This record gives sequence, C-alpha cells and structure tokens, in this order.
Amino acid sequence: MDTAFDSKQPGTAPARTPARAPDRGGSAPHGLLAVQRTAGNAATVEMLRRAGHRHPLATVSSLPVQRMYNPGHGGHGGGGAGFPPQGFVKEESPDEYLTPEETMARVASLVDNPPMENYGARRQGRAHGEFWMRFPRDKSNEAAEETLTETSALLFDSMKGAQEKAREDEPDKTAEDANNREVQGMLINDRLVFATNYNSSVDTLVERGRKKNKGGQPTFQELLSIRQSDEGATRGLRGHEAENQREKLASFRRKNAAIVAGERGEGEQGRGEDATALALRARLGEPVIVVNIEDEKLREYLTSRKYEGRVFLLRFAALDPRAKKTGKNKGQPTAEGSVHAEQKLLLALQYANIVPHQDVKGPMSIMGKYRPCMGCAAALMYYKRRLEFTNLSFDENYGHYFQGAVNSLYDHQRHIMDKHYLEYIRQMVMDDITNTPAMMNEAAPQEAVHRRGGPALRVPGRYASRQADVTPPTSDAEFDDEGHYHRTTRPLKDTWTVETAHVGIGQGSQTHNVPRRKHEQLSEAQAAELKALWNGRKGMPPTNESRQRAIELAYGYKNSERMTLKYLGGIIELDANRLGGYLTRYENEGHWKHTPSRSGKVENQPKSHKKGDPAKQFTKGGKLDGEGKKTLKALIRSLTGHPWCDAWQRIHDNELPQELNPSQMPDELLMKLAELRRQKVDVPSMSKYMHTGEKGDNLRKAITRKGEPLLEKQLAAAAQVKTEPEDVEMGGTASYPTASTSYAESSTSYAEPSGSYAEPSGSYAAPSGSSAPGYPQGRTADYGYGSGGGADYGYGYDAGEGSSSSAYPPAPAEVPGFTLHIDPGTNQPYYIDEDTGGRYIRVHGRMTRIRFSDDVEMEDA
Ligand SMILES: [Zn+2]
Repeated sequence: MDTAFDSKQPGTAPARTPARAPDRGGSAPHGLLAVQRTAGNAATVEMLRRAGHRHPLATVSSLPVQRMYNPGHGGHGGGGAGFPPQGFVKEESPDEYLTPEETMARVASLVDNPPMENYGARRQGRAHGEFWMRFPRDKSNEAAEETLTETSALLFDSMKGAQEKAREDEPDKTAEDANNREVQGMLINDRLVFATNYNSSVDTLVERGRKKNKGGQPTFQELLSIRQSDEGATRGLRGHEAENQREKLASFRRKNAAIVAGERGEGEQGRGEDATALALRARLGEPVIVVNIEDEKLREYLTSRKYEGRVFLLRFAALDPRAKKTGKNKGQPTAEGSVHAEQKLLLALQYANIVPHQDVKGPMSIMGKYRPCMGCAAALMYYKRRLEFTNLSFDENYGHYFQGAVNSLYDHQRHIMDKHYLEYIRQMVMDDITNTPAMMNEAAPQEAVHRRGGPALRVPGRYASRQADVTPPTSDAEFDDEGHYHRTTRPLKDTWTVETAHVGIGQGSQTHNVPRRKHEQLSEAQAAELKALWNGRKGMPPTNESRQRAIELAYGYKNSERMTLKYLGGIIELDANRLGGYLTRYENEGHWKHTPSRSGKVENQPKSHKKGDPAKQFTKGGKLDGEGKKTLKALIRSLTGHPWCDAWQRIHDNELPQELNPSQMPDELLMKLAELRRQKVDVPSMSKYMHTGEKGDNLRKAITRKGEPLLEKQLAAAAQVKTEPEDVEMGGTASYPTASTSYAESSTSYAEPSGSYAEPSGSYAAPSGSSAPGYPQGRTADYGYGSGGGADYGYGYDAGEGSSSSAYPPAPAEVPGFTLHIDPGTNQPYYIDEDTGGRYIRVHGRMTRIRFSDDVEMEDA
C-alpha cells in the first residue's frame, strides 16, 4: 500500500488545495441542503438572504476569479474560435470568500433567472432559450477522447443489455437501475476507469458477465459482447432518434472491432495516436476490476505501472441502499443514490489522493456518452484549472443544468464549491449558451459557424436534442474483404434546416414564471360555509344538493382563487387527491348522480363513457336541462375573471334584460357548447341560458365557426396515438416504468362513472370524520387517471400500433403542444404544456391541468 494512504479521506487532497473549505457559514449544511431540495432554490436564497447574506447576484458578476475559457484553448476540440472574446483573467487572489452554502445559493439564483429557461418543467433541466447545435466533425486530433466516448456508449448499451436479461430471468423483479442514463470513462496513466450514475448498473453487468463466464471475472470485451435488444435500445425514442441510435452503436462497434484487431489506435490512416484504444487493447485477456472509490487500493490501481492497460469499473459504496434506521419502514432498504458519472471519476482522483503532474503521466481525459451537464462541466473545469489537472481534457461543450448534479457536489466535493466554481457556472449561464448535438447524419447548413473545432449553429431551444450526446464524429470504420479495417468518412445525408427540423425537448419556459405557491385563503365565513355544505351541520346532514354546491365552490376556489387541493381538502376533511379527483370529474362531466356499487368493486367493462360521457347528464336531443345548466354555470364560474363570464354572471344573477355576444365567449365555453350541440342539445335553449338571444342564430354561428373547430382539434389530439413516450432527464434510452406497475392495473379511476354525492338509499349520510359518505369507496381516485378500459378514455393508450412487449405497459399517447412524461413516483403519465410549463393529465381525451402547492422540483439524475 502506498504511504499516501494514511489519509485517504476526502479531507486530505493535495496540500496546495484546501480539500474542504472551512465552514464559515456556520449553518448546518445538510439541513440547508434538505431545504434546498424540498423547497426549491428560491427558498434557499431567501433563507440565506434573511440570515443576513448579501443578495446572491449582488457580486456574482464582479468576482475577479479564474476564467473558465482561455483564448486559444478550445477544449478537447481545439481550435478555440476565439471564445470567449478577450475574457481570460489570470487569478488575482480575490479577497472575498464564499462558503459552500453561499456558493450554492448564488448558483441557484443564477440558474433560476433569465437567460435560463426550464424545459419539461425542469425534468429536462434548465438551459438557454437558444442552443449551439453542434454538427458532426472530424475528430482525428482527439482520437483518445473520441474512443472514450464511443466505448462509453457501448458499455452503456451492455449495461442496459444486462438489465434486460436480468429482467427476463426474473420477471418478477423490477429492473434495477432503470434510470441510469450515463457512462463516462477516464483515461489516466494508460488505463481506463468507467463510471455510471448508479452503482447497480455496474453490479448487474458484471454479474451477467460472470454468469456467461461460468463464474470467472469477465474481460472488458466480454462485457461489451452483452448487448441490448434493438427494441430495448430504441424504446422511448422517436423514429429519427432510433435510427440515429442504431447507426451510432453500429459504427462504434466497428471501431471497437478494429481496435481489438490491433488495427486502430496507433495513429493509422491520418488519425492521431489514440491512447484510449491502446489502453483498451493492451491487456485484452485480463478481467475487469471493480473498485470502490473508497478502496485503499484505488491509488495503486490508478498510478502503479502494474495496472497499465487494465479496465476498472468504479463503484461508490456510499450510494448503495442501506437499511432504514428509523420510521415505519425501519429495516427496509433505502433507495439507491446516484451521482453523475463524471463526479465519480473526480471523486476517484480525490480519494486516491492523485497529485497532478506528479502522479499523472501522459494524456488524461474524461469523456462519456453524454456531454457533461453544467454542474459537472464546472467541476471538471475546477479540477483542470484550480486543482491543476492541466492535461485533463473533457467535453467543454456542456449540456443542460441539473440541480441534482450541484447538490451532489455539495454533498461529496464541498471543497470545490467556492467562488471559482460559481464563476464557471456564471460564465456558462451569462456568457455562453447550452450545447446540443445534431444527428449523426446531419450536415451543418451554410449559415453555421466554426466554433470550438467544428460547425455549430444557434438554434431555438425547442429543437435541442432529447439526447445530450457528445457531438458525433464524421469518421467511420469499414472492413474490406480480407477483414482489414479502413478509416472512412461518413457521408452526411441530410442538411439541418429549421423547416425540416425535429422538435426535440420542446419549448422552454422562463424559470421565474414557474408558479410558486398558492396562498390565498378563505375567509372564516367562506370556510364555514364550504365545510357545512360538504359535511352538514349539527343535526343537518349534507344533502346531494349541498355537496354539489360544495363541489362547485371548491372548483371555483381552486381555479379562480388559486387555492390548493390540500388546503381545500383540509377544510372539508377530505383527502386532497380525492377532492382533486372529484373536481376533475366535475370539470369534465358536471355533477353526477350515479349509484355507487356498494361493494366498491371496480367494473371493468367500459360503459357508455367512451365518448358521450356527458350524455349521462343531458337529455339527448332536447332542451338544455337542469344538469346542463349547472355544468355551464359551473364552467362560467370557473372562468371568473374573463370579461364575458363576469358579464354573464351579472346579467344572469340580476335577471337583466341584456344580450351578450357569443363570439366573445371564452374558448372553453364554446367548446362545451359545441359538445352539447353534438349531443343534440337544442341550440335556442342554450342561447337563452347563455343570454345570447332567443333564437340562437348568433350562438349557432359562434359554435360553428369557433367552438366546433376547437372541439374537433381537441378530439383529434386525443385520438392521436403515437408511441413516443418521453422520459425524464435526457430521455435517450431510458427504460419504461418497471413492469410491476402496469398502467392497465390502475383500474381504479375516479373517472369511472359511479359514485354519488349521497347514499343510494336516499337518506343523507351523516358526516363521519374524514371519509366522504356516499362518495365512491375503495377507490384511489388519484387525479382521475383514466382506467385501463377504452382507448379514448383516460390516456388514450395506444391500443392499435406498436404492440409493446408484455413486460412494459402500453405507451400513452403524445399530444401536440405538450411533452409527455412519466411520473417516477407513480409511473403515471402526465403532460407538460410546452408554452406554460403547466402540468396536465388526460382525462377523456381532455387535457386537465393539475396544480401543485409547490414549485415543481426537478429530477435528480
Ligand atoms: Zn452532470
């Protein structure tokens, strides 16, 4: 063992750099982090502000610290292209000290404000409104980096392949680590270290390799021979993404074969020397070494000549599940933690006490399948510039910002959370924009510029790729008849144009416009009224009518007064989800009067609720009846604030002899009227109730011209069935929600047409604590997620095409203007409005907004 090992803890990095900043903040870091995670960045900033700190932006732009970019240094791409213009400032020993907490808060403030936008309600992280789209380029001068990226992508596919096979073996077990999205490799001292976000990816792969190898530790190439099925590799991808993915993997495999054959790596055919390839093929027969970051041998593994040419797979045991020590699930394992792969590699340097210049000889690089996120890019830059790993190359064309990455730096590498780190983030946010790759076969258009080694074009964020891949190389490998490798240049078949561009991550929304929290409250009298209507008064149980009125009121409070379900539910002592379900149903159907099945058993056969659901409430072909009036009235009330609706309420309530112009109605109302007309509800009777004229001619025109097309558009959107599930954070090849929770199983839907406001007997139920008498029992009623029955019901499950494997639930449909997501907690699909960032679910083919009491917190990677 090396002597340096007496102090392998993170607190003892090379002497010239204080490994851990003194905790001058005096606050409890973990407590703060907890606040950060639960309450969002703004809350943390506010907390720090109250604690007497300066506003985070007050000085952020004036720190005389080291610049991220050096003119002439173009990252691994070389070429520089003069970025940033003349900004390089050598460090000027700034006198200001920032605690890690202050650094976090200022980073938060930077990324929470313009020019940063959030994508997919932050599930795609944050990024700029425009991106540099980077087109395929020649990488012959960055051969080691190219191979590191390509090998990482192959290893990732093998990890997914191993998970796929593990699932086949044990279909009952949910696939571990379905969330892993990344592999990054490090070339150091002529050996290779690979890391993932989740340890279990490494475990599952090596386990699979051992199984194939009859118990023996597998070699790296044996691991790479484990592959994912095409179905798995392209699951969740759109057509062009799948094609791109296939071509990349096939090309990378050809290159790997050339390396293994000993024909690629030595600077052949105009290519620069490739230290990664040489390391890969140096000891092909040797097994991989799985090593924990905290392992005492790590330093030897990374520095001793004995291990040159070896391949290591890195684990970080601190992230493994452990038994819960307290709480009702005591003894149960906690969820596996994750740290972005690049950070694990940096942690390895730190734990192994690697001193740059002294312990590292030759080229050093950290490259992966994906470009680093902003938080990781800043950490890599910190190691390069501040910790003097000057020969470290990495992809400086960073991708999106994910808060989780910065949080885990705070957790594990607090020594770099200082003003320099902040400055790197600041430069990425303020002086530059996010990067995104073009497709592998896409050529740059004429207007592209040469930037950091290759062609790039500024494109609107919506075209940014859903996969944050490293920029594709233009080179390929081919084999002649004798099996010899030839380096070729791939023809770029397509030229990117905005007219033909695929929409990628969708439109961003301003981070500062994300609805924060709703705090309006009811007056005491209002609260008492609502409570009495729902629960009854002493000696006076609630009636069907009183409950209907309570629902109407709650609906109005929620939508126009912006009160939370939790708050409203608390007042009437009803579970917030259940109340939400009722309000959703009310919004869609108006009041209902069905008798609940006493058993609470869910009926499987789709009833007549397929299309004409509201028909239950309305007499077909007749005049607008009482239920219809109630529905329209409730809809108008929910649109309080709209001038037309306000006018209607005034006229209606005071029975004023005035007429309203139906063409000024809000769209929602016109659509509802169009729907009623389709159900043969008499237009003059509707017009009379709408105060738009006795005969109804004007209303008929308005419905025909505006309501009907809107309704048609909505129904078309609902009917659209495409299997393009989006996923969270950098979608790529993520697995679908695990098999154990199939959508088809979520049969309990609030939207099932049963349940009444009152007991079927007709006698009014007495209030009984928090349960809602007369309301459907034994139903989960989470927000009215559609039941499995009926393709145009609920989510419009794709019943026709794309017959997914039985291991996976059917894919929910995509809706234009929305991005589809899967809630990681419930596996339920939901939709993010690309314009507003609002969260929706689909009920009866209708997009229904869900509101949250808090800011949407982003996904950890
Ligand atoms: Zn990252």
